[in-house]
Amino acid sequence: MNDGATVSRFLPDEHATLQLGAEWAASLTAPLVVYLLGDLGAGKTTFTRGLLKALGHQGAVKSPTYALVESYPLAALSVHHFDLYRFTSPEEWEDAGLDDLFTQESVCLIEWPQQGGAFTPAADLTIALTHADNGRNCTVTALTPQGRKSLQAWLN
Ligand code: ADP
Ligand code: MG
Repeated sequence: MNDGATVSRFLPDEHATLQLGAEWAASLTAPLVVYLLGDLGAGKTTFTRGLLKALGHQGAVKSPTYALVESYPLAALSVHHFDLYRFTSPEEWEDAGLDDLFTQESVCLIEWPQQGGAFTPAADLTIALTHADNGRNCTVTALTPQGRKSLQAWLN
């Protein structure tokens, strides 16, 4: 499906997910809020790993499941990678002071955004991953003009 704001792609293996992340590295423009949607093991962190490597991050990309957020100040922009899976209530968003990371210069990628309830800033883009056969299906949806700008850049 492609109505200009939604694009789907089949990712047959882990490499394809890493590759997709790498492709997006060139398309993201700050400020941007991206929700990474999908079950445990869907490939959300794998996608982020591909993206960060392509943006020049060297070294490991840890899943922020326990830390809540890992920040990567890179040459082109700052990337903050959140994982709210372990939130027991949305108020933890405020307790952790996460709003401070949403600046004009940052791209924020959020796993389990629904766990933050109304505290989680609205998404410009959603990237939804679902299990499909032995691979994954990925659906990217742009929800704001800023999100559409990045989606258009990726499609071109
Ligand atoms: P999440 O962050 O969504 O919980 P992870 O990225 O940590 O998921 O883990 C996803 C697992 O699925 C990893 O073992 C990874 O190798 C694998 N994987 C990622 N993308 C694909 C794909 N397109 N097809 C098959 N396996 C994949
Ligand atoms: Mg993860």
